[in-house]
Amino acid sequence: MRNDELLALDRAHVWHPYGPMPGRAEPLVVASASGVRLRLAEPAHGQDELIDGMSSWWSAIHGYNHPVLNEAARGQLDRMSHVMFGGLTHEPAVRLAARLVEITPGPLQHVFLSDSGSVSVEVAAKMCLQYWRSVGRPAKQRLLTWRGGYHGDTWQPMSVCDPEGGMHELWSGVLPRQLFVDAPPAAYEESYAQLLREAVARHADELAAVIVEPVVQGAGGMRFHAPEYLRVLREACDEHGVLLVFDEIATGFGRTGTLFAADAAGVAPDVMCVGKALTGGYLSMAATLCTSEVADGISRGEVPVLAHGPTFMGNPLASSVACASIDLLLSQDWQTEVKRIEGGLREGLEPARTLPGVRDVRVLGAIGVVQLDHDIDMAAATAAAVREGVWLRPFRDLIYTMPPFVTGDADVARICAAVRAAAAAG
Ligand code: PMP
Repeated sequence: MRNDELLALDRAHVWHPYGPMPGRAEPLVVASASGVRLRLAEPAHGQDELIDGMSSWWSAIHGYNHPVLNEAARGQLDRMSHVMFGGLTHEPAVRLAARLVEITPGPLQHVFLSDSGSVSVEVAAKMCLQYWRSVGRPAKQRLLTWRGGYHGDTWQPMSVCDPEGGMHELWSGVLPRQLFVDAPPAAYEESYAQLLREAVARHADELAAVIVEPVVQGAGGMRFHAPEYLRVLREACDEHGVLLVFDEIATGFGRTGTLFAADAAGVAPDVMCVGKALTGGYLSMAATLCTSEVADGISRGEVPVLAHGPTFMGNPLASSVACASIDLLLSQDWQTEVKRIEGGLREGLEPARTLPGVRDVRVLGAIGVVQLDHDIDMAAATAAAVREGVWLRPFRDLIYTMPPFVTGDADVARICAAVRAAAAAG
């Protein structure tokens, strides 16, 4: 199809994330992707390929068109691409579940495989609410979270996204009413830890769970905080009989420098969500893990089943690729690679501090953020990055990058140059 025809059809018929939005730049057409590069169907701003500074929204940690992941997909395709999961099981899903139990923190034992991060958060909330009903505490049906968070676009996750200025403000009157405390500060402050303890204690009778993104609040503002707050939450939840849910959908699989962000605090949740990089960005899959205590509690209830069963639950193709992606990650010295990228991002982004309008520069693991003191002109900032040969997706007052772990030093430097150019243009 010719590029202009494709774009005309796209404009006429295709919804994109958070679209349609008048005035937004036309999407670029990607013809193929390999390693860390997206090849464009037609050059844009003089570039026919772009370094992906976004890892396709945190997911493509090994880069694109990876021979190991391709082989896992091909091999599974020849056996079966899908089969229903009710009453049937298969090796790819079982192996994946066992592997996730092995590598995730603490006593997480049971794995619910689903098809997107948002659904995995729905399932996490359902598990927690149903657990308390099942063990005879039906009043405990609310969730507590901190402001500035983001947990997905379906109903229950929307209710724990940032309630002010967030993407789901439109629905604030009809979503379940949850409880919010201020977003955690970057450094550990005892006064904030105390605020967390008090919030859990005060609401314990109605609280099913506390749900947070550990260490990095992603799409709600790209904020980093001290891992110690996770320990504070764990202690408060234990003391007051509240479940603790970690949403590691963005942070999981090495992004922050530890395999899971919560590992930096040595803290395990009762329920945990993973997604995005689970399949190395190849296929749509997520998982919700819980402890035996949560699963057993649900089984003791009047309705002893967790009433959730997506059609594509445990999809064999996605499960096979997920197993291959995890094995690939763990077979390498990935910590050194993430540290190397962290060093490159620090070196390349620090100079942005002196640019006019830059409020903050922060780097953690393979994540780099430049925050401005004003909302960005998204089209101008994106175009500035593309001119530098880099794909970025600036958002609100943020220009940020989370490159694939296989991004070489020269490409990390180019990504940083593009972030600086976007900051200057936006
Ligand atoms: N939780 C977090 C922390 C996320 O970053 C996202 C995705 N941006 C989600 C949940 C939702 O995942 P999905 O887009 O796969 O539904």
